[in-house]
Amino acid sequence: MEIPFAESYRIKMVTPIRRSTKEERLQWIKEAKYNLFNLKSEQVFIDLLTDSGTGAMSEQQWSEMMLGDESYAGASSYYKLKHAIKDILGFEHFLPTHQGRAAENVLFSVLVKEGDIVPGNSHFDTTKGHIEFRKAKAIDCTIDEAFDTELEYPFKGNIDINKLSQVFEQNDKTKIKFIILTITNNTSGGQPVSMQNIKEVSEFAKAKGVSLIVDSARFAENAYFIKMREKGYENKTIKEIVAEMYSYADAMTMSSKKDAIVNMGGFIAMRSKKLFDQAAVFNIMFEGYLTYGGMSGRDMNALAQGLDEGTEFETLETRIKQVEYLGNKLIEYGIPVQHPIGGHAVFIDAKKLLPNIPKEEFPAQTLAIELYIEAGIRGVEIGAILADRDPETRKNRYPELELVRLAIPRRTYTNNHMDVVAAAIINVFDRKNEIKNGVSIINEAPIMRHFTVELERI
Ligand SMILES: *Cc1c(COP(=O)(O)O)cnc(C)c1O
Repeated sequence: MEIPFAESYRIKMVTPIRRSTKEERLQWIKEAKYNLFNLKSEQVFIDLLTDSGTGAMSEQQWSEMMLGDESYAGASSYYKLKHAIKDILGFEHFLPTHQGRAAENVLFSVLVKEGDIVPGNSHFDTTKGHIEFRKAKAIDCTIDEAFDTELEYPFKGNIDINKLSQVFEQNDKTKIKFIILTITNNTSGGQPVSMQNIKEVSEFAKAKGVSLIVDSARFAENAYFIKMREKGYENKTIKEIVAEMYSYADAMTMSSKKDAIVNMGGFIAMRSKKLFDQAAVFNIMFEGYLTYGGMSGRDMNALAQGLDEGTEFETLETRIKQVEYLGNKLIEYGIPVQHPIGGHAVFIDAKKLLPNIPKEEFPAQTLAIELYIEAGIRGVEIGAILADRDPETRKNRYPELELVRLAIPRRTYTNNHMDVVAAAIINVFDRKNEIKNGVSIINEAPIMRHFTVELERI
């Protein structure tokens, strides 16, 4: 018999979770105004709202917490993190921040001015937010293959170099200072970018005299996919692949809450001392002094350790195989999901799963509610509620895809939990013809409405 795959760790500390009844959940979701963000965590059995900051730290990370140096200036924790960033990512300079969006805020305070243009591959929403907040424009140059959910393509996160060229041809070139490459491409479903593409985008940027900045939240998952899917990388270690990826970049922003497996933290890293000096001014103003930024010493220690563990093959293999395990179960049963399964989440195509719900009644939100009622599972809507209203016409924007994202926290749930999730989705799928009505909005904020929107069932 073939020895099956198993997790590369054993469990030492646990958090109890409680299975509720359907009656309780019907009551709770109603009280939450059918917005899953309003649920208390104890009302959730399996929480797949996000994989950001929700992973389990290792015993080494917890021991590093005890060694944290909380000195205001020059803490050993700062140097530990500085060395980890230099060793693993290859950047000479770095600034700690409290999370990824803070890194964007600091860096873009230097780099982005009104009227600027920032091309990239499906900019993450906080990235886009920080660009648009400065009255600049983010232009998406992701390859077309990314938008066909059924197409099997190994690197759906890639940038289309032709689209990129067009951005440079059609705009005032002095307005473009850098290209931002997001690995993995979160917005298009945790899809990876190939080494070939990173290299091509880097060469393109050099030829145009602009910088390449890597939005890096899931850089290690990206490296894993390169190892598994790209010719010539099968025998390289994750750390070798990571080092090569960053050799093509000028700077990076990082949300450490993802692949560095900590609960809070972020940083900016760069080659240029000049850029460091410019960003340092804003870091001191917005985040904190240079040697702690937005982080405590113990958190910098755990992060340094997390960067090392997060770039170990076994860690990544365990994680990505679990995401695939759930995805494959759903595919086997004919549940419409995005292909191929991404690194951190499974995306269910709600329009196909709930064909009776018109787009005006928010099919993805309806499906997320049904999944919660079915088994206490919390996913998140990536559909028209998230897409919000057009800022000018104030009309609802209806995106092409109505998805429910199930993001899997790192080292947190077992495959038994994945079985529960799969069964719940299958049960909803089996009774899809009984689900005839969706939800309507009774209250919403003027921007970022998805966090606080109040809904009622139709
Ligand atoms: C999460 C994320 C961010 C923002 O990071 P936070 O730590 O949530 O502020 C930026 N870019 C990408 C690709 C992300 O996934």
